[in-house]
Parts: sequence; C-alpha cells; structure tokens
Amino acid sequence: MAEFVPPPEALPTLDRWWGSLRQPQAELPPAVVHPSSARLGSQSWDADVVIAGGTLGILLGAALAKRGWRVILLERGILRGREQEWNTSRQELQVLLELELLTPREWEKVQVTHYPGGRIGFGDGPSWWVEGVLNVGVDPAGLLEHCKAHFLEWGGQLRENTCFLGAAVHPDGIGIQTNTGSLTAQLLVDAMGHRSPLVAQARRGQPPDSVCLVVGSCAQGLPDQPSGDLFYSFTPAQNGYQPFWEAFPARDGRTTYLFTYCDRDPERPSLHTLWQDYCQLLPAYQGVELTQIHWVRKLCGVFPAYRRSPLQLPWDRLLAVGDSSGSQSPLSFGGFGAMLRHLDRLQQGIHEALAQRQLDRAALVLLQPYQPNLAVTWLFQKAMIPPLREKTWDPDSINRLLSRVFEAMFAAGPQVVKPFLQDVVQFGGLAQALWGAMSRDPRLVAGLLPRLGLPELVEWAGHFGALGLFELLQRLTDRPELETDPQDYFWKRRREAWRYGCGQDYKLFP
Ligand SMILES: Cc1cc2nc3c(=O)[nH]c(=O)nc-3n(C[C@H](O)[C@H](O)[C@H](O)COP(=O)(O)OP(=O)(O)OC[C@H]3O[C@@H](n4cnc5c(N)ncnc54)[C@H](O)[C@@H]3O)c2cc1C
Repeated sequence: MAEFVPPPEALPTLDRWWGSLRQPQAELPPAVVHPSSARLGSQSWDADVVIAGGTLGILLGAALAKRGWRVILLERGILRGREQEWNTSRQELQVLLELELLTPREWEKVQVTHYPGGRIGFGDGPSWWVEGVLNVGVDPAGLLEHCKAHFLEWGGQLRENTCFLGAAVHPDGIGIQTNTGSLTAQLLVDAMGHRSPLVAQARRGQPPDSVCLVVGSCAQGLPDQPSGDLFYSFTPAQNGYQPFWEAFPARDGRTTYLFTYCDRDPERPSLHTLWQDYCQLLPAYQGVELTQIHWVRKLCGVFPAYRRSPLQLPWDRLLAVGDSSGSQSPLSFGGFGAMLRHLDRLQQGIHEALAQRQLDRAALVLLQPYQPNLAVTWLFQKAMIPPLREKTWDPDSINRLLSRVFEAMFAAGPQVVKPFLQDVVQFGGLAQALWGAMSRDPRLVAGLLPRLGLPELVEWAGHFGALGLFELLQRLTDRPELETDPQDYFWKRRREAWRYGCGQDYKLFP
C-alpha cells in the first residue's frame, strides 16, 4: 500500500471541471460577444489592439507594441509567470531573439536548465535517445517579467486586475467591457486560455472531443539524472487509461509528469485516480521511496482538445491565440511551444491586418487556418486510448504499437523523428512511420483498424491527403518570382497556411 501523499491544491477544482466536461451540456454558455450594426463613430480608439489574457498574450503584445501599435493588455489577476518551468528547445526559443523580445543576455538567463536530451521507450521494447528536443527548461516568471518590461518600454499599457466581461463588434471598431470600465479598439485578441468565455460562446458550449490529463511534481530527493524522458511508459494500460511519463532535470529538483489521453466516457479516470497511480508508480519509475521525496511543488492539468481546431472565431475584429485557439497538438500539452512556433507568423499577420484594415472575419480566419498536420494527429491520439469494454483487448498493445511506430521513425532518421516530437508532423515522415510500423507488425496494425472504425479512418485519410496537397502547393509556390505585392494580405496568408499546415516551417537543427 503506497503512502498517502496529499494531491496538488488545484486538483479537486480541476477534477470537478473534468467531471462536468463529461456531462451532457444542458445550456448554452452566456453570450459575451454581441455584433452591432451601429457605428462607434469615432476614429480615436483607446488602442489598436486589446489583448485579453496575459500569460502568452504578453509575447504577442510585446511584439505588436515593438512595431508601434498601441496595445492594451488586460489581465484579470497580476501578470506573473508560474514557477514551474516550460520545457522546449533552444531552436524553438530563437524566435524571441529574432523578434528582439529579449536581449541575448535575457534570452540566456530565462533558460534555467539545459540537459543533453531524453529517452523514448515503451513497455518491454527498445529505448531511443534524442538530442536537442524539449531539453531546455524556461523560467516562465522570468520570461514574462522581461517581456512585460519591454512591452511597457515600447508603449504598451498593462491593465492588471482587469477582467474581460464582454465585447460589442461594430462595423468600425470593437467595444470591450471590463470590470473597470469600457474600451474601444480595432481588434480584440483572445488569449484567455482553455476556459475563455469567448471561446465557450464560439464553440456553443460543445464539450471537448478528448482531453490530455496530467499530474506530476517538481521534487527533490530523486536520484540525480542528467537527462530526461520525452515519452516513456513502463506499465500496460490500467484503470481505463495508458500511463505515459515525462521527466526533466529542473532548476529546483526533478520534474516528473504522468499523463494520458482520454475520451469523455464516465469510466475514464479522474485526476484523483491519476494522482494515486502517480504516487504508486513513481518509486518504480525513478528508483526512490516516497518517504525520501521532498515535494517542491505538485502539479496537475486538464487539456481539452477539439477536432475543430485551430478555432476560427465567427466574428469580425476578433482573433483567438494560445490555448484558447486550440492551436497546439492534441498529443501534447505544449501550448507555450505552439505559441513560439506561430508567434512570428501571428505578429506579422496581425500587423498586416491592422495596416491594411483587413479586420473582418474572412481576413482574420486566415490567421488561424486549417492545419492538416494537426488534424492527422487525432488518429494517433485515438490509438493511445484503451477500449473500455473489449474483454479480449491486450493492455500491452499500445506500448507495442508505439514501439513499432518509433522504431520506424528512428530508422528513418532525425529529420522524421525530431519534428514529430516537436509537434510538427510532415507528410513524408508520417508516411514513412506508418509504412514502417505496418511492415514490422502487420497483425498489430490490422488489429487496430476495426477499433479505430471506418468513419475515423476515412476522415483521417482526408486529412492525410490534405497534408500531401499542402506540401505540394507549398513547394510549387515557394519561389521568389511568386513573391507578390506585400500588400496582398490574402495571398501571403494562403502561402503561410500551406507552409505551416504541412510542417515545412520546421528547421532541423543538429
Ligand atoms: C503541469 C503543466 C505543465 C506544462 N508544461 C508545459 C511545457 O513544458 N511546455 C509547454 O510548451 N507548455 C506547457 N504547459 C502548457 C502551458 O502552460 C500553456 O499552454 C500556457 O500556459 C497557455 O497559455 P495561455 O496564455 O494561452 O493560457 P493560460 O495559461 O490559461 O492563461 C490565460 C490568461 O488569461 C487570463 N484570463 C483568463 N480569463 C480572463 C478574463 N476574463 N479577463 C482577463 N484575463 C483573463 C488568466 O489570468 C491567464 O493569465 C504546461 C501546463 C501545465 C498545466
């Protein structure tokens, strides 16, 4: 019997939310956005852009303020990054230097941990080693502090303890209501995270299609290991889920996460069950007794994922970014990494939208375009969720399948495996991985197909075809003579959609 370890403080509240996501939604969420045909009638808006939500919003806010736009950032609390590090890679962080959001000194300083790389392995299968992926720990508090200082220096206005309450979309501007008064702007950016009221309205209260559940800690007393685990499992599926692990050296200890993917079936585990399993499995995983552990901080999260992502808001003058847009992969809880990937594209696109007055819905949805390389990952997610009512199903089969897929990816080389681990799926790499897994264990793959079901497979085939088509279009149009008038907002956005949608924005670093 494992020793009782009190769960993270936020766990009961998050568990209640996770429970509510599994209930049928009786009512539509309250409307916070109201279109209005009346004109604001003034050309002097309080700001060009209002950003609601400060965590990742400050990155975009700083980039836009640097370009001379008048930005107001609304944060319902105090703008402060959390203590727990975000794991990413140096290559992904480059964008902060390129956009000059941090000085080189600040850029180095916010990278509080470096380690060579991490392990990947499943069940009794082989393990692999990957360098340069998720091998940097960023201090969110330090990062936000520097970005905030630059944002203010570049003329940005920060309104803390200011809660977004609602917006009225007018033909010539947007009116924003907060608990401290009202504001006008040309554009409102929603960066309020997964539980944004604006997104709840846009999704009409639709519950997520699946979730990624995470529990974990940063703790001391664990054996010192200089490297991490990027994607690891050592036990079969249990309690209606397949446990996966991540581990990283951290500034003040070692971070370990137990995570899993779930549909909304009531028999899927609660965070509480996950926490109990985490405490039970951690000693075997890290080679430590619970009594030897000093808990620096305990962590948990529920990451909803929607097939209809990235979210295209149905209104003029409104754009969702960060977690609220659903632009991260359903396979990861790397919302910070997803923001880094899209930050340059987003700040450039918003700059052009403002400069060229392309602020209606048709123009803004192109800033959150369909991404087939996100859509194809749903099949992987479904394959990692154990069936609940199949008595003959082998609980080791998810580990075996993942072993085969990664064996094929590693055989194909770093140009296939690295982008995949950084949430950038590419057509060629995916085709190689799937073909490799099928030829290594045709029976295992064939056995999986009925479980996935024909509708899922047909839908996936459509996204896979789109991935190939996007890559073709990207290659055909990636020529200097096709660089047209910089004023052509729509052509530029289409080309970006193809490039990012097929993962050709990815640069392979050694
Ligand atoms: C345990 C854990 C580990 C993680 N590890 C990683 C990692 O290693 N790498 C990685 O890339 N990502 C990681 N993430 C994910 C990452 O933290 C999120 O993707 C990121 O915080 C999303 O930022 P956001 O600004 O979109 O949303 P949020 O973080 O939810 O922030 C939303 C902001 O909006 C504010 N807000 C909300 N409502 C209002 C309102 N009405 N008015 C004004 N302001 C409002 C909130 O106060 C908050 O500041 C992790 C998350 C967790 C829980």
